[in-house]
Amino acid sequence: MKKFSLDNLVFIDEEKARQYLENIRWPDGKACPHCGNCDKIYALKGKAHRPGVYKCAECKKQFSVTVGTIFERSHVPLRKWLLTVHLLCASKKGHSAHQIHRMIGVTYKTAWFMCHRIREAMKDPVFTRQLGGGGKVVEADETFWGGKGKKRKGARGWDHKEEVFALVERDG
Ligand SMILES: [Zn+2]
Repeated sequence: MKKFSLDNLVFIDEEKARQYLENIRWPDGKACPHCGNCDKIYALKGKAHRPGVYKCAECKKQFSVTVGTIFERSHVPLRKWLLTVHLLCASKKGHSAHQIHRMIGVTYKTAWFMCHRIREAMKDPVFTRQLGGGGKVVEADETFWGGKGKKRKGARGWDHKEEVFALVERDG
């Protein structure tokens, strides 16, 4: 698996956040979340498409990296999702929806929804280490949340890394 260190830009740059998630989800190349096809996937370009939309030549469907994840069909920018996951996992006590609401800059209702969704996802035993399609088992990348040298003492998030990691591929 290609190492891809977390860069703080992930949290402020939507494009970086997307690329970051793509690197985690598709370390060996994109796979269509609709049919599993791994060949002939095209990036849709031009003004009609936002960056990060792909089309599968096999099933003709479009997808982005969030399809099949808890981040799918959310109006919340991906970078805010990633930051929230990070915050929920990096602190021992976790964060309340109210804290998330203030820190992330989303409404309380949205924060509550995000926290709920992330926590539910983390509880789900369905989340094994399978990522990247084709039933391939990929080891959790320790650079997932902190990058190098950023591990905080006693940060529980690192113990839960694999679950967090698995968030990426819901029912994938
Ligand atoms: Zn397909």
